[in-house]
Amino acid sequence: MKIGLRIDVDTFRGTKVGVPNLCRTLAKHDIRASFFFSLGPDNMGRHLWRLLRPGFFIKMLRTKAASLYGWDILFKGTFRPGPIIGERLAPIIISAAQEGHEIGLHAWDHHAWQAHVDTMDGDAIYRSLNRGVELLTRILGRQPACSAVPGWKCKDLVLMEKAKFSFDYNSDCRGVSVFRPFVEGKQLSQPQIPVTLPTYDEVIGSNGITDNTYNDYMLSLLKPEKLNVLTIHAEVEGMACFGLFDAFLNMAQSKGASFVPLGALSSGYPSIGPGSMVAQKIPGREGWISCQAEPSYMSKSGGA
Ligand SMILES: [Zn+2]
Repeated sequence: MKIGLRIDVDTFRGTKVGVPNLCRTLAKHDIRASFFFSLGPDNMGRHLWRLLRPGFFIKMLRTKAASLYGWDILFKGTFRPGPIIGERLAPIIISAAQEGHEIGLHAWDHHAWQAHVDTMDGDAIYRSLNRGVELLTRILGRQPACSAVPGWKCKDLVLMEKAKFSFDYNSDCRGVSVFRPFVEGKQLSQPQIPVTLPTYDEVIGSNGITDNTYNDYMLSLLKPEKLNVLTIHAEVEGMACFGLFDAFLNMAQSKGASFVPLGALSSGYPSIGPGSMVAQKIPGREGWISCQAEPSYMSKSGGA
């Protein structure tokens, strides 16, 4: 059984600490995977601020935190642009490539994409993708092989702008099989390789799943005869959950699973049929994400 292993890298710290940790453990297990990097400013502090805001703001008012700490400390880093990850940490990206991992674009500005993709027009989407592709190309000395939007936030307009780049494939949605998206009556040539498995933050704490039972639960979701694609995060499995992930690799490999970069899945895929994406809510995740449309939905909506 093959498992496509996708590693999303969202932040400066995840790149600096999580990626080298993961590269070491992947080398130990003789695994090549796909890394999707965020290249531009790390504004994830703002993301955190957004997540914390309602409860945090009320607590701050109640405790008069501003008068205790001063506004400058509470807002540090949230108004100023964060460091450009690809400029400061290029050697880490280069060494992941040299170790044989597939390198793709995750985002220019991860936070901005998640916060604004709903309202971005084609030009804004192209500019955001292009800034990431340009910097990654400068770092690698070649174009990135693939791309994966942050937070599975994709829409048809994004797919059309991605078609202007030389990506071999994209991984922008959750689903069950490799497909070529049908957009505005046209079949795009770049295949989609959907993520089939949930992420750590979606699963942990729900249905009584703890770190003790997490790996067994994830192994139970693997389907030997079907597409299996797992996303991990440099910030999670590369750092706080490093030991847990290392144990998962041991368990999966001892059951005969082999981990591969996502690109190896599309090239070995028998036939790639048409498909489309729909925005859906899934357990454990805020807001909408892109999901591969069910064939029944597609026939109802007139898709291919
Ligand atoms: Zn991400």
